[in-house]
Amino acid sequence: MTSGIRLILLGKQGAGKGTQAVRIAQHYSVAHLSTGDLFRAAARGGAPAGLEAIAYMDRGELVPDDLVLRVVREQMLDGGLMDSGFVLDGFPRTLVQASALEEELAISGRPLDIAIDLEVPTEIVLDRIAGRRVCDDCGTTYHLTMPPKVNGVCDVCGGTVSQRDDDTEVAVMRRLELYETATMPILDFYREIDRLDEIDGLGTGDEVFARIVSAIDARLKTED
Ligand code: AMP
Repeated sequence: MTSGIRLILLGKQGAGKGTQAVRIAQHYSVAHLSTGDLFRAAARGGAPAGLEAIAYMDRGELVPDDLVLRVVREQMLDGGLMDSGFVLDGFPRTLVQASALEEELAISGRPLDIAIDLEVPTEIVLDRIAGRRVCDDCGTTYHLTMPPKVNGVCDVCGGTVSQRDDDTEVAVMRRLELYETATMPILDFYREIDRLDEIDGLGTGDEVFARIVSAIDARLKTED
């Protein structure tokens, strides 16, 4: 039996990766792994790896590759993600991480199905991030223009909705700079191995999701 899709989602902060990753994971019945969420949860639980990561995150810096890879390997290998399929959201973010993922995929004997780059202009992501509010517990994202029904309370789980510590102007500018220098080279990496689909991230969530599904289904068809 073919296992579930193996997909990575790339794009600037605020491009809508988190929202779309949840929908893709539900639609294709695969796990959703967000390294940012993993680090935030680990830090809330007081885990040393999480506390170490948060110090970088709050400044808008990338968490060092060795720490990221340690956490991802634990989740992917112990969690059986390699067998069941996955949507990776926020990983890989550097060429070192992309190469490490390729090695794991090679060992597992099945390549990545698709790498999606959600494209949104910088001025739009800046506006989205300035108004972004997130549930501390389940990660559901809101915006000042689309708040939860009860102010500060998550519609999904009742958790506290607040602004992320790393959504400050200085940290946001640093993250965008790092996206250009550290993460953009990954696009070429996936383009060269013919796995990259660049998708317009503008429009409603439903419109973007429809584009994503047709790109994924086209890839799956050519693999049959
Ligand atoms: P995100 O929730 O994806 O926006 O990630 C928030 C922050 O977590 C990033 O700005 C980085 O500091 C850190 N982070 C998440 N994933 C990675 C990764 N794969 N490599 C390095 N840092 C990461």
